[in-house]
Amino acid sequence: MPSLSEPDKTGPDERVLTSELGEPAPNLPGRSVVAIDGPAGSGKSTVAKAVAERLRIDYLDTGAMYRAVAFTAMRRGVDPEDEALVAKIAAEMSLDVAERVMVDGVDATIEIRSPEVTRAVSGVAMNPLVRKELVRRQREWATDHGAGVVEGRDIGTVVFPEAPVKVYMTASDEERAQRRSQEMLDMHYDEVAADIARRDHVDSTRTHAPLAVAPDAVVVDTTSSTVEQVVQLVLRLAAGAGLG
Ligand code: C5P
Repeated sequence: MPSLSEPDKTGPDERVLTSELGEPAPNLPGRSVVAIDGPAGSGKSTVAKAVAERLRIDYLDTGAMYRAVAFTAMRRGVDPEDEALVAKIAAEMSLDVAERVMVDGVDATIEIRSPEVTRAVSGVAMNPLVRKELVRRQREWATDHGAGVVEGRDIGTVVFPEAPVKVYMTASDEERAQRRSQEMLDMHYDEVAADIARRDHVDSTRTHAPLAVAPDAVVVDTTSSTVEQVVQLVLRLAAGAGLG
């Protein structure tokens, strides 16, 4: 198992496939990544952040990256459905997603969570050119950081199929809407429930990298679990994979 403190400097284009022994090849960027996927409100962010903190590794919220692209397009008056222009924005914008989300040097942490961005983001995430660019940036992030907890919709399936730990988190529709409406102070429960149902549909039926369970993911239904129970489960999986 590679050391967590030795970042892999090999670029994504030099990725090699799994060796004959089935061990992840050492130069894959996601070889020390804990991949957490699932629909909105499944508890991914809370669990991913806590796991990263306990493992003392970094955390990447890829949903924030798609939100940042949607936000930038809207701010520049570009129609989020305009594939070519939005792809150009994704390629050219400077984006730093950590505790704060910095877009072209401006703190957009709050703005990317607005109802307007939330409504537009799934359309932007359907754009294959935007996905290609953000997946490139996500792999680069893993290469630079060496290890991390990465959450999203396609992390275990597309971005880091080589990740040694893959968790797919879910929860009942009602529970997910409850959780999200506590975060989205500007939206009522009914609005949040409708938004989640619409995004679930768009995210899981799109052509490119739809929300799906990776064949080797552990599916965790968090409806009646505490955060701590789920965190402990992911930590056990990480320890089993040599990331503990
Ligand atoms: O995680 P969050 O709900 O903030 O993600 C916002 C949107 O970004 C999702 O509804 C989805 O359309 C898109 N997304 C994606 N792939 C990811 C992460 C997010 O398509 N890896």
